[in-house]
Amino acid sequence: MTDTSKLIEGRTGQWEIVLGLEVHAQVASNAKLFSGAAVGFGAGPNQQVSLVDAAMPGMLPVINRHCVEQAVKTGLGLKAQINLRSLFDRKNYFYPDLPQGYQISQFKDPIVGEGEVIVERDDGTTFTVGIERLHLEQDAGKSLHDQDPNATYVDLNRAGTALMEIVSRPDMRSSEEAAAYVKKLRTILVYLGTCDGDMEKGNLRADVNVSVRRPGAELGTRCEIKNVNSYRYIQQAIEYEARRQVEILEDGGKITQETRLFDPTRVETRSMRSKEEAHDYRYFPDPDLLPLELDPAWVKSIDASLPELPDAKKARLQSQYGLTAYDAGVLIIEQARADFFEAAAAGRDAKLTANWVTNDLAARLAAAGQSITESPISPGEIAELVALIEEGVISSRIAKDVFERMWAGEGRPRAIVKAQGLQQVSDTGALEAIIDSLIAANPGQAESVREKPQAIGWFVGQVMKATGGKANPGTVNALLKARLGL
Ligand code: MN
Repeated sequence: MTDTSKLIEGRTGQWEIVLGLEVHAQVASNAKLFSGAAVGFGAGPNQQVSLVDAAMPGMLPVINRHCVEQAVKTGLGLKAQINLRSLFDRKNYFYPDLPQGYQISQFKDPIVGEGEVIVERDDGTTFTVGIERLHLEQDAGKSLHDQDPNATYVDLNRAGTALMEIVSRPDMRSSEEAAAYVKKLRTILVYLGTCDGDMEKGNLRADVNVSVRRPGAELGTRCEIKNVNSYRYIQQAIEYEARRQVEILEDGGKITQETRLFDPTRVETRSMRSKEEAHDYRYFPDPDLLPLELDPAWVKSIDASLPELPDAKKARLQSQYGLTAYDAGVLIIEQARADFFEAAAAGRDAKLTANWVTNDLAARLAAAGQSITESPISPGEIAELVALIEEGVISSRIAKDVFERMWAGEGRPRAIVKAQGLQQVSDTGALEAIIDSLIAANPGQAESVREKPQAIGWFVGQVMKATGGKANPGTVNALLKARLGL
């Protein structure tokens, strides 16, 4: 079902956005796809270039087995068809950062065929994005235009690095869905260990195909926005591009199929080249490379070695700990966060533990710009805090104060509670005395509570105030009811 709230309201009626993505993910590997040169971030220009990468005459490519394994692993993680026979083709074009004059890619016969990704929306509901294919290809080098006013330099460190191009079906209907899809895809790749998913370093970047149509009509003409490398830019590029297309169509114009660039500074897309100017790549099978034949037993062994993936982990967290789909979905976004939760939740109230991990701790870490692996508070300390609440030693409100002290490095929660005298007052005698004097001092309030028992909250609040928030709310409620004769 189309979520009607996501339709664009035009002057002449409503429009639906149709989105398909081509994601380029750099394969996590120490060496390049067809050479032994190192892959890494931060090396000086042209320090990671072999004779193959520089396309010296007579150099021959040799396929990197590890990169093939990573592609197969990714295909299995996307519940996709693994093609036991695939081909490498030459995609011919001239560009200064491409010394070979062609990119080795896979055209007709990719290593991975159809699969699917289940994506969570913010409200906890899910939708499915079809995967059309995944193929292996080389990355190009990089032209440097800012080194000299009169010359362009070239850095070939990236040339020949292995990429997985993951092509989706046009199954997304809003910029939020597109961003959520890339997020989920990234999570799966990081769990698999096949891509480190660092978008800032360009290790994961998306080409976004955008078209608009009247709801339920045939697909419209699409434009492709190249190389968008953050969730925010993906959303901004789509919003701008869809509006642009609607305006053209509503003015009676036609969309020209073309490649566009997103300018994050001006938050707009600009034409790069139209279909007429599009390259004719003259694909043909690379004569230097044999067809890639995979042993079914090898594929099976890779399948058997896959880690627990996000969807399976989410289902398990729900069934094993009784968490909601929403809580489990938030925990599995990062493997380390789910691990942290499981370490803290052992033997504790899981729902309560999940709340501390996904709310208070997550907010504190985000504000400090730290990841959960850098958390100054350990899973054991969160478990101890939850235990104190479960045992009735502290209330949830006091727990917030204890948490702040834990964050500030004041020690373990039990020690903090002891040192600060934060234990709940469950001593009935002391509480009864406070309650009796409150009732005596406020006969009007007491009368209205007898008529309207929901109003008891006022008295609970007063008792809390009198005890500095340390009274056990359950005990207070029970005592109040008894004393007011409810
Ligand atoms: Mn590509």
